[in-house]
Amino acid sequence: MALEPVIAIDKVNHYYGSGSLRKQILFEATASIYPGEIVFMTGPSGSGKTTLLTLIGALRSTQEGSLKVLGRELRNAPSRELVKVRRNVGYIFQAHNLLKSLTARQNVQMALDLHPEIPSPVVYARSCEMLKEVGLGDFINQYPHNLSGGQKQRVAIARALVSQPKIVLADEPTAALDKQSGRDVVEIMQRLAKQQGCTILIVTHDNRILDVADRIINMEDGYLTAVDPAIA
Ligand code: ADP
Ligand code: MG
Repeated sequence: MALEPVIAIDKVNHYYGSGSLRKQILFEATASIYPGEIVFMTGPSGSGKTTLLTLIGALRSTQEGSLKVLGRELRNAPSRELVKVRRNVGYIFQAHNLLKSLTARQNVQMALDLHPEIPSPVVYARSCEMLKEVGLGDFINQYPHNLSGGQKQRVAIARALVSQPKIVLADEPTAALDKQSGRDVVEIMQRLAKQQGCTILIVTHDNRILDVADRIINMEDGYLTAVDPAIA
């Protein structure tokens, strides 16, 4: 691929705490992720996966090394640059994080609040369209308590993708789901990513869905390594 990486992680170190409590969590993490790829990150709990994901999503400041997302260097970047990156990233978390008091459509629409340039009728139409895309056309006006775990996670996918982000970061999106719902959720993400041409990085422990990945990387004790496809 002669393309520029969408995410270029180069010798990234990360520390939590200060003074004698300062603890290194990431050790020279290095990886490149290219446009349109679906990359899975596996690894034991506590190994640093979420930390790396939040660095890539510009939710946390990069301390050491270089992290370029969509061509922008995040280390030492001013906050307005970080905001630009966040606008181009959709997030899906393990717990769907839907607001209980809002309908499925209103939850999806929230993601477009960051985009005041889009007229409200378009916001409305696009949110409904996106819910249809994830198979929830009949649930547009339902509140989260009327939806199953898999349906709520599909609302979360619609919310992450409705702004047509260039990157989607998903942190254990299938952890709380049964096998079939988990597969449905990643397959929907895969289909939409191909349609929209976005790049997806999914953190998962779930080896039932690894076959959806184009490539797998593994985090262990803060060290990131490529996984040989032959043994994945
Ligand atoms: P994973 O997502 O792989 O389970 P995390 O990135 O959440 O790992 O955590 C890596 C390590 O960093 C763990 O030891 C965790 O306890 C620690 N850690 C995570 N977040 C913080 C924080 N905000 N402050 C201090 N330590 C943290
Ligand atoms: Mg985690």
